Amino acid sequence: MPRYCKLTPEEIEKRLSRKRAEYRAANYQKLCKSCWRKLPRESFYRAPSRYDGCSTYCIDCDRARAAARWRRRQELHRILTANGAGVSNVENVV
Ligand SMILES: [Zn+2]
Repeated sequence: MPRYCKLTPEEIEKRLSRKRAEYRAANYQKLCKSCWRKLPRESFYRAPSRYDGCSTYCIDCDRARAAARWRRRQELHRILTANGAGVSNVENVV
C-alpha cells in the first residue's frame, strides 16, 4: 500500500469540479469587464464552459454589445449591397 496519494484523472476532474463549485459559490458577486460594476451573479448570463460558469459581461452589457454588433452588421450589409456587390450573407464577411 503506497503512503503517497496518487490521483487518477477521474479523481482530479472530480476535485476540480468541486473546486469550481466552491469558487462559484464563494464569488457571489462578480465584476463586469465592460461597465466595471460589481453585480450579483443573477445579473450575468450563464456560460457553463467558463471557469466560473458566468459570462464576462453583465446582462445589460451583453445586450448592448449584441445590439452594437447587430448595428455594425446592418451598416456593413447596407454598404455592401448598395455597391451592388451582391453579398447576401454578412455573417460570412464579418
Ligand atoms: Zn456590465
